[in-house]
Amino acid sequence: MMNKKFGEFGGQYVPETLMEALIEIENAFNKYIDDPLFKKELEKLYENVANRPSKLYFASEMTKDLGGAKIYLKREDLNYTGSHKINNVLGQMLLAKKMGKKRIICETGAGQHGVATATVAALFKMECQVFMGKEDIQRQALNVFRMELLGAKVTSVDSGTGTLKDAVSEAFRQWTREVDDTYYLMGSIVGPHPYPVMVREFQKIIGEEVKEQILLIEGKMPEAIVACVGGGSNAIGIFHNFIKDVNVKLFGIEAAGSGVDTDFHAATISKGSTGIFHGMKSKFLQDKYGKIMPVYSMSAGLDYPGIGPEHAYLSEIGRAQYIPVTDKEAVEAFEYLSQMEGIIPAIESAHAIYYAMNLAKQMDKDQIIVVNLSGRGDKDVNQVAKYKGVKINEQ
Ligand SMILES: *Cc1c(COP(=O)(O)O)cnc(C)c1O
Repeated sequence: MMNKKFGEFGGQYVPETLMEALIEIENAFNKYIDDPLFKKELEKLYENVANRPSKLYFASEMTKDLGGAKIYLKREDLNYTGSHKINNVLGQMLLAKKMGKKRIICETGAGQHGVATATVAALFKMECQVFMGKEDIQRQALNVFRMELLGAKVTSVDSGTGTLKDAVSEAFRQWTREVDDTYYLMGSIVGPHPYPVMVREFQKIIGEEVKEQILLIEGKMPEAIVACVGGGSNAIGIFHNFIKDVNVKLFGIEAAGSGVDTDFHAATISKGSTGIFHGMKSKFLQDKYGKIMPVYSMSAGLDYPGIGPEHAYLSEIGRAQYIPVTDKEAVEAFEYLSQMEGIIPAIESAHAIYYAMNLAKQMDKDQIIVVNLSGRGDKDVNQVAKYKGVKINEQ
């Protein structure tokens, strides 16, 4: 049995109609997570579909240029569909199949989780419906086409600001009407129990591989691990296997958008307070009445007004530190990594790269930083061009 709470955070704050569905998932998860056959099947999927293990890449040029700690990049950008999201989707889809579910629903922001889910749904012959904010549908037309190409149905969510938080709310609403044959495949370590635990268990492969790889290459543990935090799944994925190693510092990087002192950011730990939303107790950006505030980051993957309850807990006990990085700084790191290593990172991951660039300079040459390169940046090239005022011809 897995804990439902992380300190005071987590829990299951949902309507009665969903409790049964959550208990059904929790029971199935508890049954399969330690089942050797399930583990073997998942390992095969990681290898054959996701292209795991992902490389631990020594960023030699960056290291030389910064003149401090050695920087390694965990190349989740090389996974099939271009980010860490596929790890979790494979795990939950396999679980849904074991449960005899025929339909998958999910939420998506920029479309990364929706594309990963539609991809695996096609492979598993599952019906798939993706909820996406109206605003995001317009901004990410290519990903909408991609999901439809893969056979998924994309449903526009017009309520609220027409973005990720509204897509999550609508997916929950829809789920209450069809819990019998439908599985809700959550994209990050957010929502009611068991999702935060389950998604972590399917992402922890990242940190397990890192420990093995770094011990093989360097013969010692890293001094620091850095990852960007939206809901927090890539960060918990790389942190989890190091939480007990107290000499390894853990840094989660939040989106500061235009700056934490403006109204345009998504820095939940830096600026948020404790509340209840989307079925969990955690930290949220909310007004004094508990109304969730609109958030902003140029990176759609970090543009969420909450954070996974486990991060709220790790922050509270001081085991991990959460640091805001702005759009401007992320764009600087986006260009830096492109030119220094020939790697175009996701704009989300560029937030982590920026912090690592500064951290490396303050550390010694025999020390090591591992950065989780959560995704590739092809999807962001247009937006960065726009940010820089470069005009690219559309059709
Ligand atoms: C979705 C996404 C994120 C943010 O989600 P987390 O759950 O915080 O990991 C970060 N990077 C990439 C590339 C993403 O697609």
